[in-house]
Amino acid sequence: MARPPLPHHRHRRLRDQRTERLRPLIMGQVQQAIDTAAVVIFVVDARDGLTASDYDMADVVRRAQKPTILVANKADNEARELAGIAEASALGFGEPLPVSALHDVNVRTMLDMVVALLPEIPLVPESDRTRVAIIGRPNVGKSMLVNAILGQERVIVSDVAGTTRDAIDTEIDTPEGSFVLIDTAGVRRPGKLGKGVERHSVLRTTRAVERCDVAVLVVDGSEGVTAQDTHIAGIAVENAKGLVIAVNKTDLWEDPAERKAWAERQMRSRIRFVPWALYTFISALERRGLPELLRLVQAAREARRRRIPTPELNAILSRAVREHVPPLVHNRRFKLFYATQAGIDPPTFVLFVNDPELVHFSYRRYLERAIREAADFEGTAIKLVFRARSGEDSAS
Ligand code: GDP
Repeated sequence: MARPPLPHHRHRRLRDQRTERLRPLIMGQVQQAIDTAAVVIFVVDARDGLTASDYDMADVVRRAQKPTILVANKADNEARELAGIAEASALGFGEPLPVSALHDVNVRTMLDMVVALLPEIPLVPESDRTRVAIIGRPNVGKSMLVNAILGQERVIVSDVAGTTRDAIDTEIDTPEGSFVLIDTAGVRRPGKLGKGVERHSVLRTTRAVERCDVAVLVVDGSEGVTAQDTHIAGIAVENAKGLVIAVNKTDLWEDPAERKAWAERQMRSRIRFVPWALYTFISALERRGLPELLRLVQAAREARRRRIPTPELNAILSRAVREHVPPLVHNRRFKLFYATQAGIDPPTFVLFVNDPELVHFSYRRYLERAIREAADFEGTAIKLVFRARSGEDSAS
């Protein structure tokens, strides 16, 4: 379709000026997108021909050395007649594929090419992947951590749709293991949070935690452990998940040894209800400590699958009861008959007792500690369920 030449060209000049100003910003974003991509679709304008930015972009794409498909969009007319097609061939990515997104021309072909160029992703069964939720209050560095993990060279990334609407889970395979990062869309979404968003993000955290095996609680190492961190740790504990605390921004520490001790003291006092949590020190900014973090996540995951054989469990618990006789409650004493591990994920122990009501909170803690001392459940919550042994007279 013929267009009046003058307005068209003026329009294009204006657009070019604007693009010029934004160029460094755009190039940064392009670089970031390419870094995380497996295949690059490089789109040029089939009708208008190439601009200076297209050539800049071509340099960036070429340097990245990723599989690239050159596409000339807006090819609504007979492709040969379009200026952009011939020019684009000079970019060094071969003949462009003429495409019209508007009229759905060649879009399928383009997608077939993408699929053909995708790297082989070793199929790791979903159940063998550790599901990780990265949680923490705003500005502690969650997005930076996710991006740092995803930016690792030997990570293979594929986005998979989550079960929650617009939650995007990301599968990654690393030397430390295979993971699913839960709701990376929620974590990566930048921007300042207002009050409403804040409440929304607590909900989002809870949902992510419910779907994970291990939660990574990011805390800001320059500020220490706050009440809000404690609260968020509580979400992981309530859901009986694994918990690894990542003390971030350690690059800001002037005296790392002294600061480390300070952070450890804070965790002991402010997150003391989770003595089993694993922790490590990282810098998302400088990408330090990430392999160790992932190793701890895997360790927590393994702990969640550990089983104690029944005879061993009973030996542990009866010894514990002998060593520390349960206190009398209303003149009655708790009695343990038999225990068994009913399941994993989290490790769940069923204790058959005379009356579950007689188990004092602190005694429950004591029994949990006894189980933890005998078998390594570091990094995960475990569950103790008390059941009245059927047929047992509860007055005994
Ligand atoms: P989120 O709200 O938890 O996702 O936090 P962001 O990832 O958006 O980071 C919040 C701010 O902390 C940003 O200004 C980051 O640049 C900064 N930040 C994140 N991680 C680090 C780190 O390891 N070191 C330093 N010095 N700054 C960091």
